[in-house]
Amino acid sequence: MMIRRPNAVLAIGIALAAVLTLIAAWVMAQMRHDALASARASASNMALLFERDTARNFDVYNLSLQAVIDAIDDPRLASLPPDIRQNVLFDRSATAKNLGAIFVTNAVGDVVFDSRSVPPRSLNVADRDYFIAQRDSPHVGLFLSHPFIPRDGPANATIGLSRRLSNPDGSFAGVVVGTMRLDYFRQLFSGVDIGTNGALALTLADGTLLMRRPYVPDLIGKSVAESALFQRFQRSQASGFFSLGPVDRVRRWFALRRVEGYPLVFSVAVAADDIYREWRVRAWIIGTLTAVLDISLIALALMFTRQLRQRGAVEAELRAQAGTDALTSLANRRAFETRADHEWARARRSGSPLALVLLDVDRFKLYNDRYGHLAGDDALAAVAHAIGAHARRAADCAARYGGEEFVLVLPDTGEAQALALAEKVRAAIEALALPHADSPNGVLTVSVGVACTTQSAFADWRALTDAADAALYTAKRWGRNRVAAWLPATTDDARGADLRGRSG
Ligand code: GH3
Ligand code: MG
Ligand code: MG
Repeated sequence: MMIRRPNAVLAIGIALAAVLTLIAAWVMAQMRHDALASARASASNMALLFERDTARNFDVYNLSLQAVIDAIDDPRLASLPPDIRQNVLFDRSATAKNLGAIFVTNAVGDVVFDSRSVPPRSLNVADRDYFIAQRDSPHVGLFLSHPFIPRDGPANATIGLSRRLSNPDGSFAGVVVGTMRLDYFRQLFSGVDIGTNGALALTLADGTLLMRRPYVPDLIGKSVAESALFQRFQRSQASGFFSLGPVDRVRRWFALRRVEGYPLVFSVAVAADDIYREWRVRAWIIGTLTAVLDISLIALALMFTRQLRQRGAVEAELRAQAGTDALTSLANRRAFETRADHEWARARRSGSPLALVLLDVDRFKLYNDRYGHLAGDDALAAVAHAIGAHARRAADCAARYGGEEFVLVLPDTGEAQALALAEKVRAAIEALALPHADSPNGVLTVSVGVACTTQSAFADWRALTDAADAALYTAKRWGRNRVAAWLPATTDDARGADLRGRSG
């Protein structure tokens, strides 16, 4: 079906554009959601792998330290020569890669055995936290120290893993300490893909930073315990959330994971920028395409609407022209018939009177003959104008009935009223004083016939028109330039109603 209403076309265009926009927005929202979901999954998987790797390594270290303790507890140890003793003490622990030197101290912190040298380097570690913790409590188990720089080695941050040595009576006898360079974690962190702005961190349970990527040496050993991120992690136990990085204030998704059995927490953080980078590009493309489509749709709808409006206007104009007489600009015969038909039906419904006035220019053939056809046309236009000026009410209709004949349709008009109006029109045309040398009056005049539904039960509007025509004929017969009302009697003896009164 052809849509003809311009506003409906525009509304459909806008509705389509809106639906398109909604679909695009929904797709983009889904894509954004998926981007975050996949970033979350890979961050938490990565944290899990770090945790597994680290837990396994620390288990091995723990066993290595236990092996040293077992060897020390063996009473035969003291009797062995130093080089053999060194082998017995440290052989098993040599298998633990990433573990640095292993020391054994006495109860005051002096190193008594050293995996790296025989005799041991002369060192006292009584001030180290891994020593103090074991000395002060028998139940610490494996202790992870805060990072420190070894006194005798290269300037590499290191942590110590200590276990307590006890005398048979349970009193403190010293510690076994393995050192571990934090570079191990740096290597662990270096291989993985965390995006351009991602971050990895390993902290002790108390918030002390052990390693970070991007690597900032100064930050190692510093505490992030006060950061909102760490607080939130401690409080909520949530394993993932968006937060600002405690160091660089970059907004990231954090996947946090405690290492089972050790006071360590891994954090894998993917920057929001990285998570949504690809999405943003696609969103731009989809958004731009959608906008272009929307604009095109609405533009097309607007164009179509405008064309429909123009066509509507043209059609209305054509319709008006089709009902208009070109020479006089009055309604034409066809428009008159439509109008008469319509007013007839209306008058019948409402019971109100309907009058018809028929006018014919007197001696017009002679006028044409004398003044020419063009002058005749001008005269007709002038006469028509005078007639049209008397069709004042909205429902009145003045039409060119044909040739030099005109008609007035007057709804809600009784006989007397119609006769009065007819007389006014006749007088107005006479008053135009268009010279007509071949007419008895010397000017152009019209004869007028009037018929009204109040006069008789006419069958239809054509019968009413015939009656008006008969009256017009009467007016002609009675001398022209006058108004005659229709009489029920025959045309021949019809009463000529000369309402001019003045004429002789
Ligand atoms: P009467 O009505 O008084 O009996 O005489 P008449 O001369 O007017 O009568 P008739 O109907 O015989 O002549 C009508 C003339 O009107 C004939 C025709 O040349 C002229 N006429 C009809 N239509 C037009 C028109 O559009 N333009 C011009 N110039 N003349 C027209
Ligand atoms: Mg005529
Ligand atoms: Mg005539």
